[in-house]
Amino acid sequence: MAFSYQRSSALFQEAKKYIPGGVNSPVRAFNAVGGDPVFVEKAKGAYLQTEDGHQIIDYIASWGPMILGHAFEPVVEAVIKATEKGTSYGMPTALETEIAKLAVSMAPNVDQIRMVNSGTEACMSAVRLARGFTGRDKIIKFAGCYHGHSDSFLIQAGSGAVTFGSPNSPGVTQGTAKDTLLAQYNNLDQVEEIFKKNEGEIACVIIEPIAGNMGCIVPENGFLEGIRSLCDEHGALFIFDEVMTGFRLARGGAQETTGVKADIVTYGKVIGGGLPVGAFAARQEIMNHLAPLGPVYQAGTLSGNPLAMSAGMAMLTHLNNHPEIYDSLAAKTEYLHKGIDSVLSDKGIDYKINRYGSMMSVHFTDQDVVDFSSAATGNNEWFRKFFHGLLERGIYLPPSAFESYFLNDALSYEDLDKTIEASREVVSSW
Ligand code: PLP
Repeated sequence: MAFSYQRSSALFQEAKKYIPGGVNSPVRAFNAVGGDPVFVEKAKGAYLQTEDGHQIIDYIASWGPMILGHAFEPVVEAVIKATEKGTSYGMPTALETEIAKLAVSMAPNVDQIRMVNSGTEACMSAVRLARGFTGRDKIIKFAGCYHGHSDSFLIQAGSGAVTFGSPNSPGVTQGTAKDTLLAQYNNLDQVEEIFKKNEGEIACVIIEPIAGNMGCIVPENGFLEGIRSLCDEHGALFIFDEVMTGFRLARGGAQETTGVKADIVTYGKVIGGGLPVGAFAARQEIMNHLAPLGPVYQAGTLSGNPLAMSAGMAMLTHLNNHPEIYDSLAAKTEYLHKGIDSVLSDKGIDYKINRYGSMMSVHFTDQDVVDFSSAATGNNEWFRKFFHGLLERGIYLPPSAFESYFLNDALSYEDLDKTIEASREVVSSW
């Protein structure tokens, strides 16, 4: 059956009447690739079923959380069981301690963890904690790294090479922007220069240790280690935003795979098993500053919600007991990488594929993609054609060149072969 969007398009038109842009998060609107978004009816394992009745292979996994595939039985069962006991209490539960204990046993270098409801909240709170701990205001972030939509992160480079940021969304004040300093990913010299120019003023450096929000970008050798040393030298905290990478790359996330130690780590996505959860973790000395122990305020009516904690507990327990999943996922990702690589190199067009663990991205450019500027050299027209060509063949890639694929372990090698063959068909017509 030819790929149809008819019902999705009708649903999108209706949605646009009542929801701004028809979506509850902008990337879902397909602005970067054009056309109407596909609406999902349900999902199981590696497949999404669209409202038009197509079963498609999913490479976004809800932007990361569904690492074991959709509707993973232990998670579904745990949520159903929890629901029957009540959906929220606003009081402590034993389950919160259980998941905290498990999470800190899996994550290196942290003693305590605080649960919140999204990755945005986790990063926003981590920065507040770093400011409270150091008594300093300024933060360093990297162009193209996404840490959620809180004001301090919606900042772009101003004029000049090393500079104060300026708001990249109306509604973010200049007052906020002046405290966020921007550097290019993989450019250690810039970080050093910012530290020197702002001696004694930097509270923290926040980074995606493996970036996933400008496609997948891998830190060059020495980059994270260099920032670690600079933070130590200048008395700043190093925050790893592991919202994407946490519990996805390894049990201990990017801290484990890179061997670099963070002071505060933020989590989201996988830790909630597909329910709205974020978290931030640190060693005791830092967490002691957080309310109710210390003066740095942070709170949440639904934080530690029993449904969300049950889902997260089932997910983390499975990953903790089956670490072989990480090798299996990395092998599948490598297989897909090599397959698409051979398709594109046979075609003879410019492309670069970046990969790390179960994250990867295809960039239609002749440049190495190492930071936001090089990611932006990608040919978006080719990206659009690749995306839509694959979608019409039943394969769902991230609908933006600045997003990473997230593989899930329910994907079979048959699914991967189908994807590689479909890529060959798509580019052969160019
Ligand atoms: N940090 C990173 C690295 C992310 O990729 C995201 C979201 O994609 C966030 C933070 C924000 O998380 P959330 O969308 O749950 O607020």
